[in-house]
Amino acid sequence: MTTNVELKTFPLFINGQWTAASSGETFDVVSPATGEVFAKVSKGTRSDVDQAVQAARAAFNNDSWREMKPKERAQVLNNISYQIVAHAEELVYLEVMSSGGTLRRISSNDILQMADLFQQMAKFVVEYPFSETLPVPPFPGPSHNFVWREPIGVCAAITPWNMPMLIACWKIAPALATGNTIVLKPASYTPLTTLKLAEIISAVVPPGVINVVPGSGKEVGEYLASHPDVDKVAFTGSTEVGRRIMGLAAETIKNTTLELGGKSPNILLEDADLDIAIPGSLFGVFLHSGQLCESGTRLFVPDGIYDEVVERLVAWSKKVKLGHPLSPETDMGPVISKQQRDTILSYIEAGKQEGATLVCGGNEVTVPGCEGGYFIEPTIFTNVTNDMKIAQEEIFGPVLSVIRYSSVEEAIQLANDTIFGLAAGVWTRDVNKAYEVTRKLRAGVVWINDWHMLRNDAPFGGYKQSGIGREMGKYSLDAYTQLKHVHTSMVPQLERRSWYQLLFSQSE
Ligand code: NAD
Repeated sequence: MTTNVELKTFPLFINGQWTAASSGETFDVVSPATGEVFAKVSKGTRSDVDQAVQAARAAFNNDSWREMKPKERAQVLNNISYQIVAHAEELVYLEVMSSGGTLRRISSNDILQMADLFQQMAKFVVEYPFSETLPVPPFPGPSHNFVWREPIGVCAAITPWNMPMLIACWKIAPALATGNTIVLKPASYTPLTTLKLAEIISAVVPPGVINVVPGSGKEVGEYLASHPDVDKVAFTGSTEVGRRIMGLAAETIKNTTLELGGKSPNILLEDADLDIAIPGSLFGVFLHSGQLCESGTRLFVPDGIYDEVVERLVAWSKKVKLGHPLSPETDMGPVISKQQRDTILSYIEAGKQEGATLVCGGNEVTVPGCEGGYFIEPTIFTNVTNDMKIAQEEIFGPVLSVIRYSSVEEAIQLANDTIFGLAAGVWTRDVNKAYEVTRKLRAGVVWINDWHMLRNDAPFGGYKQSGIGREMGKYSLDAYTQLKHVHTSMVPQLERRSWYQLLFSQSE
């Protein structure tokens, strides 16, 4: 794929327009494959956040957007889907260049998932119970009762750098499907596709419905999370920052959705089909250089097949080809930044220090033609115990910890021994055994004989410190609506309103 996108400065996107930042400052967007600057972005400030929130509030107060009929809204969502497909080439290019995700993944998976997500939302929105009628109550007297689901208002979305445009869509689609308006703050490594999405979507929604203010987490992110005129915060990122955002949102009791970190356990049972389970488990941990929140980073292997599994894991890992993410031949691209590369290398060092055995990779790599890039080999540690740092902390890099177990009960106990609960997996030929294990795993998604199988019609989110709330599927519409009970009395005679005697014992 070739495309000509010249190096340029991307302004903020507010109220349907490209808008310069009030500070006049910009920051660089660097290609992690080469370390070269390839775009500049206006650096938002608190005053820009105020402007964006004001625009979003005005758009929310516009009845024609908030009260739009579901069928009409479905049309808008379908139009967004068509716009995404029409602009796919530019979106894919910007995403590959800034996130380091491979062209193969982003052009085939992410962009289609995004287009499909808006189409699925279009279907959900016409079936969604925006108004439900409750049965006539036996007590205290006849009345007609509705439950209405109404939009929450101005939503803030704070997003990470790993799958920036897909994760932004997980928030934009349900927010718009239910009549909210949104202000997004993308991660500073990867703001370009969120800005581009806002421009594309603005072609089919009123001004102010979608706004994007890039800037630092400390300034723009914290201000959005605490802004008195923001009604909801949807955050995807680390558990540490999620904790901070929840605290800030608590000041004004904002509705909050948090999609946080993971250290997902992957359990191989003795009868697993290793021909699939080995590449499947590596797909589960090395896709996008291990920078996916639901990566299967802890692999539990029974004693009886441990050595065979390790040997085959190493052989398969050696097939993974590192390269420039724009090349269709590249299996694994760079990690996002020099800082992230150094963090991953320090975890690898910690693994060695703690006594785990490094059986594969463990080094940074210089890729010809990408000398300034941030590449790390697929890395495997064996003889890991579940209490080690590399088994407990989220590394967010291509590092697998293989942990030995003697009984399935032990594997389940170790699998759950983590603060996280985002995803889990089990590999077996016995479906009954699979469900038995699945029932005991404390995670928001469990894959049986597979990994990374997120669906636009299934909920996604974490147990424990991996988050609160769910994204995707019809379930995500609940996260962007609030319930209103509407009661209409059907008792026109005062004497039949016996409940008024709770206050007036003497009636005339
Ligand atoms: P991060 O938490 O550092 O940053 C996420 C976003 O929050 C960025 O936009 C950042 O600028 C902003 N931010 C940082 N500090 C802030 C603050 N004090 N107040 C407000 N906003 C602030 O995460 P990251 O490094 O961008 O992404 C990696 C993390 O995201 C990993 O922990 C990963 O597991 C998680 N993640 C979770 C999911 C999920 O769905 N559960 C999906 C993808 C990534």
